[in-house]
Amino acid sequence: MQVAQFFDPTLLAKYNTSGPRYTSYPTALEFNSDFSVADFEHAIESSANRALSLYIHIPFCHSLCYYCGCNKIVTRHRHKADDYLVYLAKEISKKAPLFSDYKVSQLHLGGGTPSFLTSMQLGQLVNLLKQSFHFADDVEMGIEMDPREIAIDYANDLATLGFNRMSIGVQDVDERVQEAINRRQSTEFISDLVARAKHVGFKSVNVDLIYGLPFQTAETFGNTLKSVKAMDVDRISLFSYAHLPARFAAQRKLKDEWLPSVDEKLALMRQAVEYLTNHGYDFIGMDHFAKVDDELAIAQRAGKLHRNFQGYTTNGHCDLLGLGVSSISAVGNCYSQNQKELNAYYQGIDACGSAVEKGLTMSPDDAVRHDVIKALMCNMRVDKADIESKHQINFDEYFSEELSDLATFIADGLVILRDAEVVVTAKARLLIRNICMTFDTYMKKHINKQRFSRVI
Ligand code: SF4
Repeated sequence: MQVAQFFDPTLLAKYNTSGPRYTSYPTALEFNSDFSVADFEHAIESSANRALSLYIHIPFCHSLCYYCGCNKIVTRHRHKADDYLVYLAKEISKKAPLFSDYKVSQLHLGGGTPSFLTSMQLGQLVNLLKQSFHFADDVEMGIEMDPREIAIDYANDLATLGFNRMSIGVQDVDERVQEAINRRQSTEFISDLVARAKHVGFKSVNVDLIYGLPFQTAETFGNTLKSVKAMDVDRISLFSYAHLPARFAAQRKLKDEWLPSVDEKLALMRQAVEYLTNHGYDFIGMDHFAKVDDELAIAQRAGKLHRNFQGYTTNGHCDLLGLGVSSISAVGNCYSQNQKELNAYYQGIDACGSAVEKGLTMSPDDAVRHDVIKALMCNMRVDKADIESKHQINFDEYFSEELSDLATFIADGLVILRDAEVVVTAKARLLIRNICMTFDTYMKKHINKQRFSRVI
C-alpha cells in the first residue's frame, strides 16, 4: 500500500475542517423530541430486516480518563450497577416482545466500561438477554474492556458466557502520556489478557489507540505501535484525540501546550498507518486496521463494508436495538435515542418501560442521502443505478446541485465523476467526511458552530 497517497500535506491542510463521523445519517443532532414510542413501533413493523444487533450501554467507569468525551458515570460503587441492571431488565421486558420475530446476530456491550460489571452481574444480564430474545447460533458477542480493574480470569468467564469478541482500551503505553491522561495501566497485563482471550477461544481481539494525546512523540508512539503489534491483535482502531475543552470539562486538565501540534499529530497518524500496513494490517476506512485475512479486510476489498454506531462492520443488514441510558437504536427508517441522564432514564423506565428521549423518522430525502453517504463512507464510491432503482430517482437530476458542488474536489483529484458512478480516489481517504458533507442537507445550519470534531 502506498501510504504517501493518503497524506498530501496541501490537501490535508486545505480540507482539515470540522465534520460529522457519519455513524448515522441524519446525525444525532437532527433527532427531535416529537419522536414517539408509536413511531418506533411503526418502524419495527415496517422494517424489511429481521436480523437484530443488540447494543447495551453500561455507563459506569472506575475513574475518569481526562481525554474522554463519552457518556459515563465515574463511581467506585459497584452496587450502582445492580440498580442499573434492574432498570435494564425492565426495559428488556418491554422491548423484547416487539422483536419476537427477529434473530439476534450480534450483541455488543459498550460504555462507559462494560467490564465494570462483575462476572456475576454480566452473567445475569447475558442470561436475561438470551431468555428474552432469539439468539442465532453463530451470534457475535462483543464487549469493550478497561484493562485496569479486572483479573485475567475475567476472559474465561466471558468466554463461558459466549463472548467471542473483545475490544480493549489501550490508547497509549507510554507512562508519561498515561499519567497526563489519568489512565495508568500495565502493558504486560494487557498482553497477557490478549493471550488469554485467544487461548479461551475469542475469535477476534481489537485494541483502541488514540493519537494526538499529551506528550506523544514519534518515539513514544512508535513504542505503542510495536507493543500492540507484538500482542498480535486482529484489529486496531486508531482514533484522533478531539480536544474540545469547552464541551468536556475533564479535557480542561490537558493543557494546550502538552498537545502535539496539528503537523505533529498528522505525522503520528501517518506513522501509525505506515507501521501497521507494513506489518500485516489493512487500512480500513478512515480509522481502522485489520489483519489482511480478517473478515473486515476481506469485506473492504469486496466493497461490502458497512458502518454503524460502533464504526465499520461486516454486519450490515441488521436493525439495531440500543438498550440502556443514552443508547441509540436504528430500526427500519428511524433512529431513536434513550435519555442521556441516568435519573431521566430511570424515570422513563418507571413510568412506561421506555426512556426514549428523541428520534427521527427518515424522510424519503433523508433515506436517499443516507444511502449515498453510507456508500461513500464504506466503499468510497456510489453506484448511481443502485440509488436510482432503490429510491426511484434520476441521480444526476436529484443531485444536480451537489454534483456541481463537487467541482473543487474534482479539480483537486479527490473525486472522479463518471456516467455510472461517483468515485472517491485514494488521495481522499482521510477526507471522506468532507465529501460526504456535500450530500448532507443539514450541514449548512451547522457550519461554523464547532459541533463536530476536526476531520484529521
Ligand atoms: S475512556 Fe472509557 S474508561 Fe475512561 S472515562 Fe471514558 S468511558 Fe470511562
